[in-house]
Amino acid sequence: SNALNFSGGPGALPETVLEQTRVAIDALPETGISILGMSHRSDWFRSILDEAELNLRILLGISDDYAITFQQGGSSLQFAMIPMNFAATGFGPPEYVTSGYWSSRATAEAAKVTERKVAWDGHATGYRQLPTLDELDISGSAAYLHYVTNETVEGLQFPVCEEAAQVPLIADMSSDFLSKPIRPDAYSMMYAHAQKNLGPSGVTVVVVKRSLLERIPDGLPAILDFRTHVSHGSNYNTPPVFAIYVLTLITRWLRFDVGGLDAMQSINERKARRLYDTLDALEGAVTIHANRRWRSQMNVAFTFGDSRLDNAFIEAARERGIVGLEGHRSIGGLRVSLYNAVTEQAVDILANALTEFSLQRA
Ligand code: PMP
Repeated sequence: SNALNFSGGPGALPETVLEQTRVAIDALPETGISILGMSHRSDWFRSILDEAELNLRILLGISDDYAITFQQGGSSLQFAMIPMNFAATGFGPPEYVTSGYWSSRATAEAAKVTERKVAWDGHATGYRQLPTLDELDISGSAAYLHYVTNETVEGLQFPVCEEAAQVPLIADMSSDFLSKPIRPDAYSMMYAHAQKNLGPSGVTVVVVKRSLLERIPDGLPAILDFRTHVSHGSNYNTPPVFAIYVLTLITRWLRFDVGGLDAMQSINERKARRLYDTLDALEGAVTIHANRRWRSQMNVAFTFGDSRLDNAFIEAARERGIVGLEGHRSIGGLRVSLYNAVTEQAVDILANALTEFSLQRA
């Protein structure tokens, strides 16, 4: 397709990956069988799972102290599974940073499973800023501290890898995983669903420190127990073979076409700079939701000030083949998502459309 896709997710995928996917739907070069009919118990699929895991370890620098699993149910299932597995007896209530739409969902879901604390809440200030985690007053006995590294809806991102030395840190990285290097050792668990930077929806990458698995209580339904996914090598029940295959293609693309996460970060920084510079140059014609210091490199939420103008821009952009700009239903306005597969050229075309649109209105 020639559309320029800035959707918040599922989002754009690299053209070369889409091309390989088209071939695979017809017949996989390695097996002669359509990817849609490949057995999850085949040697071929085992090798895909192993390769996906290896590529993630290499891209992110994840040691064998961590297990990597591929699960279903999206990040929303993780919101429930995390407290079920890790709000263990012998520890204090887990603590949650509530900094936007998705972290407040995580916070609310945890409350249905366990007693939990809100370590920081950005609601009263409209979710426009983020805290520094190591300045929060977290109980040393807390079971864990949960936060979202990039708030997809509001366009807020923690600029650096956070530290929380006293307690296990658990991060929802759904909307910035694989967009830049991270320090995995800062985390006890990190997770991300696929449909932003990793592939199509249907699979969630869950990276968890093996030592944390020892805290899991017995008696959980097998599929909700992280140990099941680790011990069955992400093949306990029928996994989403197609989604995991495309994820593997994405990790190959990142390693061998892009050249790793440092290179990906440079490209993403240029894209974000181009867009923010353009918006800042419109001087008052647009309002960016995030306070400057916490502007996300992945999602840029803004408004021309009223929904009539926002919709007029969506229409003007559509005529140029630009799609996916509608803001999330919870805050309205516009949102540009700059996931890995969005090209610099696409951002250029969008930036020019923004400038022209506001000149016409001036
Ligand atoms: N966390 C974040 C940061 C998200 O952006 C989203 C969805 N966009 C979710 C969680 C929920 O993910 P899912 O739809 O896979 O349950």
